Amino acid sequence: MIKGDYRKRSYWLESLGEIQPNPSLKGEDKTDIAIIGGGYTGMSTGFHLKSYDKGIDVTLLEAEICGYGASGRNGGFNMTLFGLTPSITKFRFGVEKGRQARRFMEEAVNYLASFIRENNIDCDYEGTGYLLVATNEAQVKRLEHEIEVAREMDYKGVEVWDKEKLRSEFNTDKYLLGWFEPQCGILHPAKWARALKEKAEEAGVKIYEYSPVIEFEKRKNPADGYKFVLKTPEGRLLAKRVVFATNAYSILFPEIYKYQTPAFTRIVMTEPLTDEQMESIGWKNRAGIEDSRDFIHYYRLTKDNRIVLGGRDVGVTYGRDMERDLDEKNFEELKKYLLWVFPQLEGIKFTHQWGGPVSITLDMAPAVGFLGKDRSAVFALGYIGHGVSATFNTGRLLAELLLDMDTERTRMFFIGRKVIPFPPEPFRYVLSHAIRGFMRLEDKLKYGEKF
Ligand SMILES: Cc1cc2nc3c(=O)[nH]c(=O)nc-3n(C[C@H](O)[C@H](O)[C@H](O)COP(=O)(O)OP(=O)(O)OC[C@H]3O[C@@H](n4cnc5c(N)ncnc54)[C@H](O)[C@@H]3O)c2cc1C
Repeated sequence: MIKGDYRKRSYWLESLGEIQPNPSLKGEDKTDIAIIGGGYTGMSTGFHLKSYDKGIDVTLLEAEICGYGASGRNGGFNMTLFGLTPSITKFRFGVEKGRQARRFMEEAVNYLASFIRENNIDCDYEGTGYLLVATNEAQVKRLEHEIEVAREMDYKGVEVWDKEKLRSEFNTDKYLLGWFEPQCGILHPAKWARALKEKAEEAGVKIYEYSPVIEFEKRKNPADGYKFVLKTPEGRLLAKRVVFATNAYSILFPEIYKYQTPAFTRIVMTEPLTDEQMESIGWKNRAGIEDSRDFIHYYRLTKDNRIVLGGRDVGVTYGRDMERDLDEKNFEELKKYLLWVFPQLEGIKFTHQWGGPVSITLDMAPAVGFLGKDRSAVFALGYIGHGVSATFNTGRLLAELLLDMDTERTRMFFIGRKVIPFPPEPFRYVLSHAIRGFMRLEDKLKYGEKF
């Protein structure tokens, strides 16, 4: 990867302007806890570790700049969804665990929103809610079922919007049923990532940027307690414990390779809408919107009224290839979709397109776990496209686990859960393709729009 090309990875990262990166690791350093990965998960873990225990020494190694991965490229939805859908979570884990997951995610959304507010963090946060819509009869049936499951699992704060309500909020006839959660919101993902970096540093986390871990070694019973040696191109970090906060990039580490696979989701973005265009579409509530396909469309407004729209398909990868961000066909379909929902925007220009990797477990649910009998290393991954709130709360959870605390979070069922492993290549690729193919077919035959 070329140093400094973070600007090309998303509009959000580009809009940060010139960043003065932290120095990279040179020579040898030692730490109590080393964190690999400077996305939301890693930075939140570091921040919470130092907030709970000032005396502990925490060092984070980031391959590029903090926020370079999914954390600097996402849709910016602060949302409650755990796993793919409530009904899949119920099917996979049962009602009780589904309730636990929901409590964790409700807490996650509220914690993130209040943290941003209380710390006056400049990340364009808008507490405008989240709207899940159905745009055809098959999606209506699916959404009605999800609403039923949500009631069964005690979801709080879900409003059901009928066609008339939706028509009064949006100038489109495509929305037939809606699930609205007012507690959710939207933010500028890269501003939030860089603000979290500042918070972690203020709390005392030492952060090295442009410091990829290229070799990872575990020593047996070292006299000095430094069990891990993390090598970077110009240095090495000795650590007593390690946090893998590498999410989709976990595929690069043999220790956690099998737990997840990357999938690449893409986004297009328009120029700022004029006042007339804004008036023409309604959308005064400014909620982040998703539809109810298998491969959803997700879209939202930015502070300056651009529309950011992503989804519809995903890219899968072979081996260790992490460069699948761009796909012209996917981008063109997204542009077409926007005009299908809001034909009044005909002629609008698209100024940016980008993509990024999300981490997929085989059952599409997040996983947190320990490595080794001595539990000296931990990992968290598999948030699929719903990690903005989850990662911040999971960072807190990881800190609590590492500090042997007992909280409601550390009793969550997804900690140490049995993760169904992905097979090695070429079977991993075949399996990923088969799952993608199935979901695409369902969308084509059932949930997709006809254009
Ligand atoms: C396009 C897109 C849209 C999304 N939209 C939403 C949304 O609207 N709402 C939502 O909730 N979620 C969304 N997500 C998901 C969300 O962004 C992620 O779940 C979340 O950012 C994951 O954070 P993380 O810190 O775990 O991983 P990442 O942000 O990916 O961080 C991992 C970090 O590890 C670093 N790294 C990799 N290898 C090494 C190494 N060898 N040494 C050191 N560092 C390394 C990477 O450079 C990266 O910075 C979206 C994701 C994408 C890609």
